[in-house]
Formats: sequence, structure tokens, C-alpha cells
Amino acid sequence: MLLPVPGDESKTDLASMTDGELTALAGELSLPRYRAGQLIAGVRAGRGIDGLTDLPRALRDTLARRYGVPAVTVVRRQVSADGTEKYLYGLGDGSRVEGVFMRYHHGNTLCISTQVGCRMGCAFCASGLDGLLRGLNPSEMLGEIAAAQAVTGCRVDGIVMMGTGEPLDNYDASLAFLRTVSSPAGFHIGQRHISLSTSGLVPGIRRLAKEDLGITLSVSLHAPNDALRSRLMPVNRRWPVAEVVGAATEYQQVTGRRVSYEYALIAGVNDTPACAEELAALLAGREAHVNLIRLNKIAESPFSPSAPPAVERFMELLEKRRINATLRRRLGADIDGACGQLRRSASHAPSGQKEEVKV
Ligand code: SAH
Ligand code: SF4
Repeated sequence: MLLPVPGDESKTDLASMTDGELTALAGELSLPRYRAGQLIAGVRAGRGIDGLTDLPRALRDTLARRYGVPAVTVVRRQVSADGTEKYLYGLGDGSRVEGVFMRYHHGNTLCISTQVGCRMGCAFCASGLDGLLRGLNPSEMLGEIAAAQAVTGCRVDGIVMMGTGEPLDNYDASLAFLRTVSSPAGFHIGQRHISLSTSGLVPGIRRLAKEDLGITLSVSLHAPNDALRSRLMPVNRRWPVAEVVGAATEYQQVTGRRVSYEYALIAGVNDTPACAEELAALLAGREAHVNLIRLNKIAESPFSPSAPPAVERFMELLEKRRINATLRRRLGADIDGACGQLRRSASHAPSGQKEEVKV
């Protein structure tokens, strides 16, 4: 994609360009084929223009006049007792987004952000409290991975697009990211190790189904009926439960990949036996998996996480109805786990506490 560099809009973002666009640029600069290969490989490896050291200096200078690579740095890093790490990333225009690095026995997974803020306004989520500022460029999503690998010294093996923002509300950039992140010249992260989470943008789900990607679709459901879901997630007024589940089922049929439904249990709101029965009826007979998680409490919302007995009862009811469900382990519970919390605590802290730890 041809996009400006955030914070330096006179330049075009080199690392958000597709292989085809980079090849065309090499043609425009009359570069021989091997130089085009070096350019693409260097950009995909996450190097800035200065780091493309196999290209002649004069060529790098020519590129630097018109092109740039957006900076993504970790400005705050919190490490949990269980090894989970949470990052506040700084972007070139001063924006902040979050990431979480999770260590599993099968590899490391990074949760990445796709937008600065979010305009969906879900009642339980900190990411949407200030609305949407902008979408991230594909290069910035790739930069989140590069920065996480740099601070941990470990490879990222899998991605969940579950950080700040709604990926399908930044569709083209999210797609360009998905295509380049699997490139063998770049991060080479297999599509089967990638999940995209959405609040239920039906046209986006339908479009995604046709992209011929091997990724997992995760739908943030959180309620089994329209009355409750519209209260928690305003997006439901536009695309109600039946349409969302219908589109997700189509996604499953077209791609052959089982859909995950995210369900954050909120005390006394969506954790009743009646909700569990309704959820089971809604998903019965579908190739689906329910990921239950206890709500992460955020200061700005009146909601609280369900008590453990309610969680257990909910889980048992789903199992009885033969719905696949798992209770997600709460990684990093001691480090500000909830979505959007870190970014907000950084931008809303009194000025004395605003200092950031550079790593
Ligand atoms: N916008 C996308 C992806 C980012 S949100 C989406 O909504 O799916 C990632 C996940 O975190 C979603 O399932 C979201 O519903 C969930 N989430 C947001 N706030 C939460 C909270 N306070 N506790 C638990 N899960 C939360
Ligand atoms: Fe946006 Fe997802 Fe948070 Fe809803 S849950 S406000 S869609 S980031």
C-alpha cells in the first residue's frame, strides 16, 4: 500500500509497500533485478533505509529523500511473574498502542494492535474510551513484532490481532500486514498461527472469507442475544447476533477453519445459566469454539469479572450441551492485563508520572 509515514507525511512508507509496489519502484529507479531482490529482502527483514547496507550509499540517499520506514519502539515494558510481557509502543507521530508477548509451550505469541484507539465503543473495553485516532500502517503492525523480538531476543511464532483497535475497521492495512507477515523473506509466521479478532463487522468478515488466507477468525460475542449485546457492544445495533454468527459460519464453511467466539464473563450481566443455555442454542451444530475469559476490570466501567463458581457453572452448562469451550488462562494478570489499560494509564497519568521507561 502507498501510505504516508506517520509523523513525516512528506514521505511514503517503504515498508507498507507490497512486493509488487517495491518491484515497480526498483524499475522506476532502473535497478538491476538483483538490487530489487536486495531491496525487498531488506525491507521485509524490518530494516530501515539506513540499514539496507547491501545497497550503495547513493541509492539509499535517493530512497531516503522520498521514502521512510515508520519507527515503532517499546517505550514501556512490564514483565509478569509468569513471563508474559506487556508493551507500550511509541509510534512516529507520538501515538501509543499496546502489545502483549505470551510464552506458551508451543511457542511465543504476540498480541498486536491495529489502530490507535477504536471507534466501536464497547462498554467493557478501555481501548474505545477515547474513540479512534487513526489506523496503523501495515509496516507499524510489522514493527510491533520487530520491536518485541528485539526486546525479548526471542522469536515471535504466532500472532493474535487482539490489541488496541478493530482490525476489520482498518481492513486494507490489516490485509496487507497479513500477507507480508507470512512472507519467507520477512517474519515467516505461518497463517495457521495467526488469529484475527473482530467485534463483528459483517461485510469485513465476508470479505475476509474470500481472501484465501489460512488464519483463524475470532468473533467477540460476549452476549447471546441482541438486547444484551447491543448494550455491551454498540456495533450490534448495526450487525445483530444472527448476522454476525451467520457470517462467521460462512467464514468457517468457505475456509474450513473453525471459528472462535470470545466471551468475557461479566458478573450478573452475561454469566447466568440462561445466557449459557442461549449461547449453547445459538452455536449448536456449528464448527465453533468458545473462549471464555473472566472480564478484566477496568476503572472506567461499572462491570466486574464473574466469580469463579459462576464461571464454572457457565462452562459446565456449555459442556453439557456439547459446545467446545475453554477457559482462557489469564496470563500477566499482575501487569495491567486488560485491553487498552496501559495506553490509557500512560496518557492520562498526572504529568509527574508520565515519564516513560526506555528499554
Ligand atoms: N476489536 C477487536 C480486537 C481487539 S479487542 C475485537 O473486539 O474483537 C480483543 C479482545 O479483548 C476482544 O475479544 C475484546 O472483546 C476483549 N476485551 C476488551 N476489553 C476486555 C476486558 N475488559 N476484559 C476482557 N476482554 C476484553
Ligand atoms: Fe474496539 Fe474491540 Fe475494544 Fe470493542 S472490544 S472497543 S471493538 S478494541
